[in-house]
Amino acid sequence: MNKSILKGITILYAEDEDDLRINTGKILDVAAKQVFQASNGAEAYEIFLTNKDNIDLIVTDINMPKMSGLSLIEKIHEVKPDIPCIITTAYNETEFLHRAINLGVIGFVLKPLDLYKLIETCIKAVTPIILRQELINKNEELLQLNKELEAKVALRTQELETLANTDPLTGISNRRDFFNKANTLLVNAKYDIYATMLDLDKFKVLNDTYGHAFGDIVLKKITSYIKLSLRNEDIFGRMGGEEFAILCECESRENFMKQMDNIRQGVEAIDFENDGKIIHVTISFGIAHKEDDEDIDSLLARADDALYEAKDNGRNTIIFRNRG
Ligand code: GH3
Ligand code: MG
Ligand code: MG
Repeated sequence: MNKSILKGITILYAEDEDDLRINTGKILDVAAKQVFQASNGAEAYEIFLTNKDNIDLIVTDINMPKMSGLSLIEKIHEVKPDIPCIITTAYNETEFLHRAINLGVIGFVLKPLDLYKLIETCIKAVTPIILRQELINKNEELLQLNKELEAKVALRTQELETLANTDPLTGISNRRDFFNKANTLLVNAKYDIYATMLDLDKFKVLNDTYGHAFGDIVLKKITSYIKLSLRNEDIFGRMGGEEFAILCECESRENFMKQMDNIRQGVEAIDFENDGKIIHVTISFGIAHKEDDEDIDSLLARADDALYEAKDNGRNTIIFRNRG
């Protein structure tokens, strides 16, 4: 018998015999969390109504003044149908037993009271409730844990996705993300599409002269400048090394060329400082306009051809390449 189970239980105990109530009440007090005592049914009912959310178990005599134990149980069950009730009585006529069973009384302890038996009956009465509550608590705990786990997985998935799509040095789209976004734009575009391939000029010399770490700073600063010059919906990615690509919707070739030339001039104007020396970096641009039936590979290949031409033409320049 697990006596400690009663430690969390509040009992309402009704008994009109004062000595018996006081003595039994003392024992119940030791075993339970709290015990409310009443000397008749009406008083017990009042106490129940005031404390109904806290009371877990009813222990009541049957023959009491003002309201009998069975009437008390009947009225209590109207308010709280599931509360377990135990009766203590010398009265064991079948007629009363029948009524008690119909009222849902789940335990009997005959008088004179065997206190050990009373405690045992109390434990039996509340055990299913405690177990059910524990199950509910455990279930809630599990649901909560599951929720937390799902949130963690979603966050981690998001992080991994970002990681898989981002160039670690510059924070812009990597090649894979560029192509994914580009293919979506090609399907949904409302205006003409233009592609630019960009490549930093003489970057190897810059690295060799000022060091790779300085080269990294230059790459980061230039990409963040270009990113800020573009609209959110424009696609900008690092294709590898010091080579980048831009894909935009634009109403006219003139506007697009102007926008790219602004970027070219803006990059050229950035002051990079190394050991007190101011350095300027330039970019070459190759641009192509997407024809109706053209896919992204063909479009970028043409922009790349234009880029080669820009390099051949002395760099820091923009070349547009038509198809055919
Ligand atoms: P060009 O004007 O013809 O493009 O000359 P270039 O020197 O820029 O071209 P090349 O392809 O010969 O050299 C590219 C250099 O870019 C070499 C490589 O070390 C450097 N590079 C590529 N990726 C990075 C990077 O992440 N950080 C740094 N610091 N340098 C890089
Ligand atoms: Mg280069
Ligand atoms: Mg290169």
